[in-house]
Amino acid sequence: MKALVYAGPKRVEVQEVKEPEKQDGKVKLNIRYCGVCGSDIGIYLGTHPRAKAPLILGHEFLGIVAEEGKKFKKGDRVVPYPLLSCGHCLACRSGNEHVCNTLGLIGIDTDGGMCQTVYTDEDVLFKVPDGVSDKAAAVIEPLAVLVHAIHMSGFEALDTAVVVGAGPIGMLCGIMLKHAGASKIFISDVVEKRLEIAEELGFIPVNPAKENLEKVVKDATNGEGCDTFFECSGAAVPAMQMTDITRVRGKICIVSVHKKPHEVNLRDVNFKEQTVVGTRVYTKEEFGRAAELTKELETELEKIVTHVVPLKESDKVFDMIADPECGTIKIVVDCENV
Ligand SMILES: [Zn+2]
Ligand SMILES: [Zn+2]
Repeated sequence: MKALVYAGPKRVEVQEVKEPEKQDGKVKLNIRYCGVCGSDIGIYLGTHPRAKAPLILGHEFLGIVAEEGKKFKKGDRVVPYPLLSCGHCLACRSGNEHVCNTLGLIGIDTDGGMCQTVYTDEDVLFKVPDGVSDKAAAVIEPLAVLVHAIHMSGFEALDTAVVVGAGPIGMLCGIMLKHAGASKIFISDVVEKRLEIAEELGFIPVNPAKENLEKVVKDATNGEGCDTFFECSGAAVPAMQMTDITRVRGKICIVSVHKKPHEVNLRDVNFKEQTVVGTRVYTKEEFGRAAELTKELETELEKIVTHVVPLKESDKVFDMIADPECGTIKIVVDCENV
């Protein structure tokens, strides 16, 4: 079968690999779509601390059950909960397997789904609601990140919210905030094509290369700042600005991975009694909730899938992401088109 394989730093190749063998207790899936994630970029660049070549990429996949299982029927569309937890560290013992000390993921620590066929445990699979398009279903995994972030953030309906970064995570954050009843959603990014889509989705776009984000937010909130701030960029500048942009007693939610320590104004956190909360992936419950939410959010979710690339050409996806002219938000690999 064909697969997109990480072959070493800055090297990904569409390769002919051995089809996985039948495994007892597991169910065979034919892969329909597999999304490209920010963490896949880290693997591609060779900076991911755990991923080792050769590795089939992809943890965001939508599969079609290929043979009758115990729980699922042939033809069911399913997405796997991709987290691999140890089961015995403190986090795992206290019901927080998603922050396991040695958390792993399918597609990072084991071969993933950017290929034609995989075998997975049935109990990690969630069924895609009938009638929801494949394109919308392809973003269930990243959507689950935002279900978790909204839960963790302390966000309340009618809050004003600022989202920094209009990549897939930032856009999904905006979509979830709108669904959860935010009164105003500001979203900032330097890529104009992303801001155009943000505006179509009903968010207030801000390009920090042209406008001062803090001023825009404060002008719209009686000089107070936003109620809830979502850091979805992983960059240094927003880390330093977030306490300024957020009001007294406001909430700041760190959604993006900050790969190195960034400066934060802790004086603001003190004086303004702000709450800063970290978030990482999602619980199994929240993953199931994301699958259900595709019914209500289908149109919006489809809008952020800007590019569908055939598996045979999938070695190009990282160049596409790096090129702002491409205007990619979410790229999904079509694994049936080989
Ligand atoms: Zn992901
Ligand atoms: Zn653990």
